[in-house]
Amino acid sequence: SDNILEIRNMKKHFNLGNGKILKAVDRFSINIKRGETFGLVGESGCGKSTAGRTIIRMYDATSGEVMFNGENVHKLQGNKLKEFRRNAAMVFQDPYASLNPRMTVGNIIAEGIDIHNLYTGKKRRDRVVELIQAVGLNEEHINRFPHEFSGGQRQRIGIARALAIEPQFIIADEPISALDVSIQAQVVNLFKKLQKDHGLTYLFIAHDLAMVKYISDRIGVMYLGNLVEVTTSTEMYANPLHPYTESLLSAIPIADPEIERTRERIILEGEVPSPLNPPSGCPFRTRCPKAMDKCALAMPEMKEVNPGHFVACHLY
Ligand code: SF4
Ligand code: MG
Repeated sequence: SDNILEIRNMKKHFNLGNGKILKAVDRFSINIKRGETFGLVGESGCGKSTAGRTIIRMYDATSGEVMFNGENVHKLQGNKLKEFRRNAAMVFQDPYASLNPRMTVGNIIAEGIDIHNLYTGKKRRDRVVELIQAVGLNEEHINRFPHEFSGGQRQRIGIARALAIEPQFIIADEPISALDVSIQAQVVNLFKKLQKDHGLTYLFIAHDLAMVKYISDRIGVMYLGNLVEVTTSTEMYANPLHPYTESLLSAIPIADPEIERTRERIILEGEVPSPLNPPSGCPFRTRCPKAMDKCALAMPEMKEVNPGHFVACHLY
């Protein structure tokens, strides 16, 4: 199949006790094609990191299916599970917290190599050197410690660590959000180059649409644990359908000062509701400028409005 991942109605609910259920991710369904970058976007707390962690089985799914190369990730055991762990890696948001400060960079990068017994001795060292060079750092860096590096360099080390197991699929959870703006483009370009060199598939998580624009082939927008719109990157910018996506796009500054001055900004009223007490019906209705009576009554289903363009909204 063209799809490396087929995710059907994945849910991740946390039982907080006292009858409280946090629906962090609800009815999440997407396919990810082999070799593509799928951008997952939404405000912090909308469930995108939880979705990523459930896909990669850092968390068990509450229900639904995550099919990776045709096999249900959450049912894998033994060697099949090991094989999955080698095929799917993660790059974390915080390059300061995600690297063990007491390990040398070489040993950090080699973690996956050691866990999976891929190489030892000189071959292991050669592989680590190859990896550190692939992310734009030098051989001499492998004996140093994380605190000796800048944020951008640390994120490169995190990427080398993810690559070490030769994965097919990488989840990058806001990998550039903690970096200086001047460094972000370099790291995005590194992701692109590595994708080309290694045929990688990415799930690229970000909190705003501007960040994923240049890297994503397709984009999914999440709000309060729900996917609300999925389409190609081009279509998402040219023809956003969901009112929430429209508001996210209107928040991106435009370089042309004339357009910037005259265009309309959609300012959302109110706060994102607590996921412990979500609104009835459409999760966006308490802030939606286009909400109608029926939006309080029923949760809109995801519909394919144009070929490959899915939206969950009663307007369509
Ligand atoms: Fe707005 Fe209603 Fe559409 Fe929800 S279903 S986004 S409240 S118009
Ligand atoms: Mg997050």
